[in-house]
Amino acid sequence: METEDQHPAGAGQDRRLLPQRAAALPVNSPKILPADPKAAYLAAQAETDAAIRRVLLSGHYILGPEGDGFEREFSQWLGVAGTVALANGTDAIELALRAAGIGPGDKVVTVANTVTATVSAITATGARAVYVEIDPATMLMDVGALEAMLTTLRDPKIKAVVPVHLYGQMVDMPHLTTVAAAHNLTVIEDCAQAHGAAIGGRKAGTWGRLAAFSFYPTKNLGALGDGGAVCGGDVALLEQVRLLRQYGWRKRYVSEMPGRNSRLDELQAAILRVRLTKLDADNLRRATIAARYLESLKGLPLVLPVTAEGRTHCWHQFVVRTPRREELRIHLEKRHILCGVLYPVPVHRQPAYHDAAQSLPHTEQACAEVLSLPLHPGLTDADVERVMREVSGFFA
Ligand SMILES: *Cc1c(COP(=O)(O)O)cnc(C)c1O
Repeated sequence: METEDQHPAGAGQDRRLLPQRAAALPVNSPKILPADPKAAYLAAQAETDAAIRRVLLSGHYILGPEGDGFEREFSQWLGVAGTVALANGTDAIELALRAAGIGPGDKVVTVANTVTATVSAITATGARAVYVEIDPATMLMDVGALEAMLTTLRDPKIKAVVPVHLYGQMVDMPHLTTVAAAHNLTVIEDCAQAHGAAIGGRKAGTWGRLAAFSFYPTKNLGALGDGGAVCGGDVALLEQVRLLRQYGWRKRYVSEMPGRNSRLDELQAAILRVRLTKLDADNLRRATIAARYLESLKGLPLVLPVTAEGRTHCWHQFVVRTPRREELRIHLEKRHILCGVLYPVPVHRQPAYHDAAQSLPHTEQACAEVLSLPLHPGLTDADVERVMREVSGFFA
């Protein structure tokens, strides 16, 4: 998850209002941010302001026509039967698992190089997380390792798998869905970083039993506050999520199940409807920037992101790897280029989820080496040039 440290004081300041400094004076140059939700707002300011005003004047602030409209439009964009809009992405993972029947005593397989939210959602159901190694090339769940683990353990408590489509690239879902079916596992996709990622043209969020999205402001589709959704093709399961998001109510004041409150508000829904109309163009801009980075950085002693055959990357993050990660990060920071690190500490090494028995060398090495170069649709060509020049300068 992109946290506050990616949005330091002054983050998102309108750079158009700042005096343009010469590139020779990097210390005074405007900051280039790893993600820039304010720039995204400014790029659609009039429409967003109009949408906000429409909601303010409607008198309807929770679960109304904007939420319904967003659910319909997002389902259509994704190509699924239904969407249930929720308060955030963590709830989306948790409620999707609960709707699919996962609970206390069960085990759920995922990876450890994800945001702790993936694992906190699993543990919130009462289930336990079990980690599988990543493929060191893509840094995504190694489906071969998953298959080997399931075959070796033969543990009937393992009921589900949560593939995390990290950085904007999808896990090998054709392989994963075959393995999951052979072992009777429910697949719940974590699509928080994968709005628009695809394999063979089929989008992330259309492969699992259900899929969870986050609309945190820095995601490829971001609200101006929190938001999330569960999507899928199984209308009966989606109805369970719908009940869980509001006190277990199908009918007002009748709780059919122990649900809770995880509603998306009308302001965020209206903002997301505006943002959704820009998503494909924004993803194209991300891909253009990524292609320029790939081209210009290829001679450097740096591991560049690898896109597997047949996959459409939505470039949520442009992640390079180097054992000199901290040196490079500080070098760039001094030149006002702020990078992200997703994620410096794997979940099984976090204080709250520490599991000394787990050994995941590929995962641990990736977490020690990853660095996200700035990549968002608000970057100008000059910003991209500056990043490329300063990264090259570090190795010169
Ligand atoms: C952002 C994110 C989440 C959590 O979403 P929130 O909306 O912040 O709750 C879960 N998984 C991944 C991979 C994420 O990037």
